[in-house]
Amino acid sequence: MQNYWGIDLGGTKIEGVILSAPSPDAVIIRKRIDTEAHKGYDHIMAQIVRLINMLQAETGLKPDRIGFATPGTFDPTRQTMKNCNTTALNGRPMKQDLARLLGVPVAVANDANCFALAESTMGIVPDVVPNFQTVFGVIMGTGVGGGVVIRGRDGVPFVLNGLQGIGGEWGHNILEENGPPCYCGKRGCNEQVISGPALQRYYQQISGEERTMQEIMDRYQEGSDLVASQTVNRLLEYFGRAVSVIINILDPDAIVLGGGVGNVDLLYTEGVERAKKYVFNSREINTRFLKPKLGDSAGVFGAALL
Ligand SMILES: [Zn+2]
Repeated sequence: MQNYWGIDLGGTKIEGVILSAPSPDAVIIRKRIDTEAHKGYDHIMAQIVRLINMLQAETGLKPDRIGFATPGTFDPTRQTMKNCNTTALNGRPMKQDLARLLGVPVAVANDANCFALAESTMGIVPDVVPNFQTVFGVIMGTGVGGGVVIRGRDGVPFVLNGLQGIGGEWGHNILEENGPPCYCGKRGCNEQVISGPALQRYYQQISGEERTMQEIMDRYQEGSDLVASQTVNRLLEYFGRAVSVIINILDPDAIVLGGGVGNVDLLYTEGVERAKKYVFNSREINTRFLKPKLGDSAGVFGAALL
């Protein structure tokens, strides 16, 4: 019997899962330990080995291969990690180190790709568009990321990693000319315009008041806060523009919107309406915009599916 082993490597926790089948109901075991990232790269590797030993000891199972969801990207040219906010991983040959330490083949993909793969294979997409060809998964939360999933000729969905390992990296497309500066060195990236923190900053700059995204949404609904309306309008307009790029290039069957901002109901109605102005085929947009089903589990399930 084939089992699916997945590890979600986060900045604070490392989570491991074994699935007996690609289904959220097929969890054999699930376990988390602290990453303790401040202790450095070798310690993070040791923590991963420790977690896998625990999974083996408790189930008596052994992996044939293991998939990893990582906070950044594996660069296939240099064979090292890049763009990780757990910075101890950057520049390190994590994939080879893990394969050597664990004695099995490993696959790695960033967390947005794992999210897209999990939702496409065992989340909301099979419920709504079972015969999809292409899915774009978006995470709009603290950061903004994305992943492309394509159904292979064998019928099995896979992640499009791309030549440089940045396939689907939608968060750093430039959305607002001369917009807020980004840590990536550019200005006005998607992440600096439509992420939760970016919208909160925008609200604060105009109103002088610090509010959470939820508070801003509530105040918008009440209709009494002009700055909240401006902020929500900024979100919808730029969301429409950002999404039109995805549709013009991939024209996917479905776009799954994850992350805290992805929860905003208006994106699915007014946000899509705004995209019409920018999409090449402007008459109507038949793309399905879907709320994810797997919640926080998408990362670790997607890793297992790699
Ligand atoms: Zn950027």
